[in-house]
Amino acid sequence: MVKELQLRLTLKEEALSDILLIKSASFLGIDKNDISGVKVLRKSIDARKPKIIINYKVAVYIKEPLPKTSQYQFNYKDVSKSKPIHIIGFGPAGMYAALRCIELGFKPIVLERGKNVRDRRRDLRAINQEHFVNEDSNYCFGEGGAGTYSDGKLYTRSLKRGDVRRIFENLVFHGATEQILIDAHPHIGTNKLPKVVQNIRETILKYGGEIHFETRVVNFTIKNNSIQSIHLQNGDEMAANRVILATGHSARDIFYLLAKKQIALEAKSFAMGVRVEHPQHIIDSIQYHCNGERDPLLPAASYSLVQQINHRGVYSFCMCPGGFIVPAATNNGEVVVNGMSPSKRNNLFANSGIVVEINANTDLHKYERFGALKGLEYQKNLEKLAFTAGGRSQVAPAQRLTDFVEGHLSPQLNPCSYQPGLKSAPLHSLLPKLIGSRLRKGFQAFGQKMKGYYTEEANIVGVESRTSSPVCIPRNEQLEHPEVKGLFPCGEGGGYAGGIVSAAMDGERCAEAAIVGL
Ligand code: FAD
Repeated sequence: MVKELQLRLTLKEEALSDILLIKSASFLGIDKNDISGVKVLRKSIDARKPKIIINYKVAVYIKEPLPKTSQYQFNYKDVSKSKPIHIIGFGPAGMYAALRCIELGFKPIVLERGKNVRDRRRDLRAINQEHFVNEDSNYCFGEGGAGTYSDGKLYTRSLKRGDVRRIFENLVFHGATEQILIDAHPHIGTNKLPKVVQNIRETILKYGGEIHFETRVVNFTIKNNSIQSIHLQNGDEMAANRVILATGHSARDIFYLLAKKQIALEAKSFAMGVRVEHPQHIIDSIQYHCNGERDPLLPAASYSLVQQINHRGVYSFCMCPGGFIVPAATNNGEVVVNGMSPSKRNNLFANSGIVVEINANTDLHKYERFGALKGLEYQKNLEKLAFTAGGRSQVAPAQRLTDFVEGHLSPQLNPCSYQPGLKSAPLHSLLPKLIGSRLRKGFQAFGQKMKGYYTEEANIVGVESRTSSPVCIPRNEQLEHPEVKGLFPCGEGGGYAGGIVSAAMDGERCAEAAIVGL
């Protein structure tokens, strides 16, 4: 017999061994020796009150063996001689599209401009230490895409768009911890992600797929409204009739290429702002009602904040507890920040994007001449402005949070996790009013919601500009571009995802769509 229970544990109880077994037996009024095992289905922390509670949803197996954890079988088969599907980009969307192609009996041929995870690391070091951005290999481009050197947060609001559990189980199948199947807010961590990504690559190669790194796509041949071939930067041309375009939101050259070829694109609303960084102990104190030192059983605390300011949402984005701010530019001459954390989330800082919604229809009048690319040009300008304000390197412009809100330059900045370094700059006057004035009010409102959040011990760092794609590549119900047969815009670049999990789900869906009629 199997019984599902909700158990509530105090932190003291959480520290005891076999506590779930003991509590389950007592709850059910049975002898603990009759329980063959307790499987955790869900775990979450309730820190709303000073007495912190750990909530468990468990399945108790009574005189019955525990089943295998996996609900899914991944039936990979040899596709080396099967019909090809070309996939451009090896981020979460491209990786999951390739895996799904193999399950469906088609051969994925992946073209990725960046390097494999190991070689990519050297280029990340060069950005941090020499301030040189390799425009094909950086925090956004390379094996695993923008998701590899990230926090690996696996939350998604797109629960209706696909089977999240299937995505998670496939990550576990490729080496991610089973904990992601249980935690209410699962994450993998930047130290663990490269191995998972490498294992996915090995599966694809083992079953006969192809992956070509350092292979940038620069053009397409389209005849009679159908895709015919893909052109590579080395001059090669590859015949292709089903192409999944999963190049992410930073592949501006792809947006420019499509615009030049007069292939329909649409401007899309997006969000931009800054990254704020607090000492982690401040966030722990606020969230766990403690005095700076959180209980060792508790993870680094996180937060999620949102406030309407003058008809626009101002909200926290990609919060990284115990993490680092990283330089996520894809071109020299721009500064872009983002965040990542190791699996233990044990760095001394808590950072988060704080961004303002930019409405593509009403906020970009001065950029109308750029048509569908108006948001992209606006984004690009802000990144150039950050580059100039930081002193024309990967040093980022920054300000103490309180100085930003009060409108004066910071004589001194707080210590920060951002490796290339910070330069004090008047972000309050440099940012467009649309963003800057709302952020200033937003931070004050957040200080009301989380007492201690609005503090001179926090820095803000500019600019957080790559939250989502400013461009949408349209597609019809068959997920195909309405004007180009055989072209399947996919993932975050097309405007169909906003994170690792939603991009992966979209990759699977595009693979299923691309094989139809082949
Ligand atoms: P991408 O991951 O952007 O992949 C696109 C790939 O296409 C890249 O590898 C690129 O090199 C390749 N490409 C581009 N142009 C070409 C071309 N012309 N030819 C060949 N290849 C090309 N999301 C979360 O859910 N959780 C997080 O914790 C998280 N943290 C993040 C931290 C950082 C630092 C960054 C940058 C992003 C983070 N994100 C996070 C966002 C997440 O990584 C993206 O939403 C996700 O990777 C999008 O997947 P994608 O496959 O659509 O595109």
